[in-house]
Amino acid sequence: MAIREIRKFPDPVLRRKTDRITSINGTIERLIDDMVETMHAAPGVGLAANQVGVSLQVAVIDLSTREEKEKRHPLLVIINPEILSRQGSVVEEEGCLSIPEYAEKVKRAARVKVRAQDRTGNVFELEAEGLLAKALQHEIDHLNGLLFIDRLSPLKKSIFKRRLKKMALEKT
Ligand SMILES: [Zn+2]
Repeated sequence: MAIREIRKFPDPVLRRKTDRITSINGTIERLIDDMVETMHAAPGVGLAANQVGVSLQVAVIDLSTREEKEKRHPLLVIINPEILSRQGSVVEEEGCLSIPEYAEKVKRAARVKVRAQDRTGNVFELEAEGLLAKALQHEIDHLNGLLFIDRLSPLKKSIFKRRLKKMALEKT
C-alpha cells in the first residue's frame, strides 16, 4: 500500500466525470488499498478516486472515528455508486481534503438510498442518514465532477472566491 498525492482544487481532474469500472482487477484492488491508506493518513472520512488523480468510479468512506453508531460501517468501498432516492434536507458543515482549510454549510438530502458494488463486485443497496448520508452524497458528487463549493449559496460562493483571491495574493 502507498499514500498517494491528494489533488487540490482547482485541479481539472476533480472536474471530470469519472468512468465506470467494468472489471475489478489487481490495479483497482491496489487503488482501493492506497485510497484507504491515503484517507486514513490525511486524516479524512472519505476519498474519491479522482482526488488521487484516477478518473474512475470508486470511493472509500470510514466514519468509525467520528460516530459511534457508524462503527457498523467501519470501511465502506463504493464502486459505480448511484443515488436511487433522496428524502428530506439538512444543512450541515462540510469540508474536503481537496479544498484544505475551508468548511462551509451545505444543504443535502437527509436520507439517501444508494446502490453500488463492493470491492468484490457484489451489488448492494444501502439506506443512510446522518453523517453517512452526507459522506455518500459528498463522495458521489466527486465522482460526478462536483465539489461541495458548487452547492453553496450564491453569497457563500462569492465569499469563497474572494478567499481564493486573497490566498493567491498571499502566495505571491
Ligand atoms: Zn471531498
